[in-house]
Amino acid sequence: MEKFKNYVTHLECGLTGQADYLPGEIHGLSQAGRPLLVRYALKAMKHELNKNDIWARPGGFWKWRELLPLMNTENLCALGETDTPLQPCPRLQKDLNVTGEILMKDEGRLPTGSFKARGLGVAVAMAKELGLKRLAMPTNGNAGAALAAYATKAGLESYIFAPDDTPDINIREISLQGGKVWRVNGLINDCGKIVFDGKEKMGWFDLSTLKEPYRIEGKKTMGLELAAQLGWSVPDAIFYPTGGGTGLIGMWKAFDELEKLGWIGSKRPKMFAVQATGCAPIVKAFNDGTKHADLWEDAHTYAAGIRVPVAVGDHLILEAVRESKGAALAVSDEDIEIARQQIGQREGFLVCPEGAATFAAYKRALKDGRIDGADQVVLFNCGNGLKYPMEEQAGVLDRRHPIDYDALK
Ligand SMILES: *Cc1c(COP(=O)(O)O)cnc(C)c1O
Repeated sequence: MEKFKNYVTHLECGLTGQADYLPGEIHGLSQAGRPLLVRYALKAMKHELNKNDIWARPGGFWKWRELLPLMNTENLCALGETDTPLQPCPRLQKDLNVTGEILMKDEGRLPTGSFKARGLGVAVAMAKELGLKRLAMPTNGNAGAALAAYATKAGLESYIFAPDDTPDINIREISLQGGKVWRVNGLINDCGKIVFDGKEKMGWFDLSTLKEPYRIEGKKTMGLELAAQLGWSVPDAIFYPTGGGTGLIGMWKAFDELEKLGWIGSKRPKMFAVQATGCAPIVKAFNDGTKHADLWEDAHTYAAGIRVPVAVGDHLILEAVRESKGAALAVSDEDIEIARQQIGQREGFLVCPEGAATFAAYKRALKDGRIDGADQVVLFNCGNGLKYPMEEQAGVLDRRHPIDYDALK
């Protein structure tokens, strides 16, 4: 088995900077109740590694082994990970009369059909490495599916709790992949409370978004991969559908690490956190100029992945958005559906509602002058469009009568 050097030095509180958390121990949140961030010996890495050698490796997000926390390759659980394509969208550019490239990073190609594979692949491998046996998590669907698949592959148990209106397909894929799953009459934070309250009694380790340190590291690989795909540079703007914000925080961390390694320069993309008008706590906090976001009451949107009323990493999301001179933007379910149809019918690309939301937000940002038509932008299609309900648009034919072919034109 190939040997990789591990460069982790310690973990650090994302809020207070307290830095005495040791690798090799089991960690949840920091003492301040906030996410922990993994730190690496980047100076040593800079001398010892070559970016192009790493990028040339197979294995999707696992190729970034030295920038990930896993020590022992035996604990790695792989399900056929792949780098995800950056799809050009020339017809959308034409529709909007912009010269800057619109690139859609298609995360639907990953195992279990969403970018949750990145976070949970790494988090489950770390759970295995740390000797944990029984994992639990609240989910809006995709995270549960990724947890079930990777936990089963790793030989661990998974207990998963989902709001009762979670798409049927998510619930079914979870159990088919070996997870134990329950529908709960509440939202994701209510499901999170069931995990929190039952932890001790059930012997669960809580894998809730950002409540353990390693999902961010997995999601970070989106930023590493993106920079490599763009020839070791970053786009002018990134539009990211933001629930717990793991991916946005992770990419922001990735760019920082890449710069310290000397693999990219100091340019940063404007980071846009995209939410739905029915659940927009980060947008509200951004507009109010506050450091943290309040719980959003009566959260609703059909883009289930971003129906997250409260995020424990709110300050990290807001920091990245503000430092990058981006914004947090909310789009309506109606605009999300229009965007989904436009991308499908113009580009032949079936995206998930959350992915469509990023295009709706891009259009808004253009209109508001937050970005320029010449900017190169990356939108995230975070899940496979086939996992979501689609509008029925077929006509109906009666084969027992003569077909009026002219009417089909
Ligand atoms: C989880 C999820 C999101 C939100 O991702 P975060 O990184 O947790 O903000 C967006 N879209 C889909 C489809 C998801 O599954």
